[in-house]
Amino acid sequence: MFEYTLLATSGRARAGVLRTPHGDLPTPVFAPVGTQATVKTMTPRDLSELGATLVLANTYHLYLRPGSELVARMGGLHRFMGWSGPLLTDSGGYQVFSLKTLRKVDNDGVTFRSHLDGSTHRFTPEKVMAIQEELGPDIAVCLDECAPPLDRAYNEQATARTHVWAARCRASQRRTDQALFGIVQGGVFPDLREQSAHLITSLDFPGHAIGGLSVGESKEQTYATLDLLNDVLPKDKPRYLMGVGAAQDFFEAVARGVDMFDCVLPTRLARHGAALLKGRRLNLRNAQYAADESPIQEGCGCYTCQTFSRAYLRHLLAADEILGLHLLSLHNLHFLLDLMRRIRASILDSTFGQLAAAWQAAS
Ligand SMILES: [Zn+2]
Repeated sequence: MFEYTLLATSGRARAGVLRTPHGDLPTPVFAPVGTQATVKTMTPRDLSELGATLVLANTYHLYLRPGSELVARMGGLHRFMGWSGPLLTDSGGYQVFSLKTLRKVDNDGVTFRSHLDGSTHRFTPEKVMAIQEELGPDIAVCLDECAPPLDRAYNEQATARTHVWAARCRASQRRTDQALFGIVQGGVFPDLREQSAHLITSLDFPGHAIGGLSVGESKEQTYATLDLLNDVLPKDKPRYLMGVGAAQDFFEAVARGVDMFDCVLPTRLARHGAALLKGRRLNLRNAQYAADESPIQEGCGCYTCQTFSRAYLRHLLAADEILGLHLLSLHNLHFLLDLMRRIRASILDSTFGQLAAAWQAAS
């Protein structure tokens, strides 16, 4: 049901298709993040029109509100949020570990307090699997522990826990219509990463997520880790780099064999009034755009750029009009989705190297 087909390679870059119960997923793919079962300000119809093929939702947030049981009663996440394409949920682990003072981790799981009302909850591998099975995404991921990338001692401990938890998640999986991805951890330490990749792949997951990157290490360390993992992770299964979604990272990571990405960046930047451009960001709140008749980006095919001036967008932001957030999100999502489509097409016609070089030169 989750067969991954590798269609073409260009260097180490891969173009393929992952079959899911809600349709074929062309890879490499960028998934917009719908934290609360909504990609902020975007309807599923908007997302479809933008060509989004995969959406991510957050287990931690949906477990706390409205509750995974309720989502299950409403027919599952696809039906609840009106998205009929492939869906992915994270394990909630990353959010829980981000709580810092509100959580306590032990070998069996993690106890934490809700950021909403302070109530106490506990995630174990089995619990996280049960929640994701209630939510019902096409792709679920294992509970893992994400340690600060440069802390050796913590990474040794967290990696060991992550492996035990991965095996427990695998053993407690009941639904056969969900693909469960194992997560490789190990910070920036090559031996830990390699060990983690070997252990996780030995559990025979249909796909592999790379966690613990883009969380404070240098770009060189990120890329070195991806180089290493490209050699260890099986070639016949998709690789998902969690939480990474800057344009330059797409090129660098795809060139190192990564197939899937997610990031809150395009919608978060939109809420701060920033538009994504090649190699830079445009802060539309700046006064210099007050009478600028040009679109965000000349030649951009998105509805926002086809229709509105920077001056109008700046006015919407200044007046706190909701439409401003929607139009900026739309451009930013288009920017990344369109870029990923071009990257995929370039792998298919063996011009990925040229596209990457052209991008680098223009950035
Ligand atoms: Zn645009």
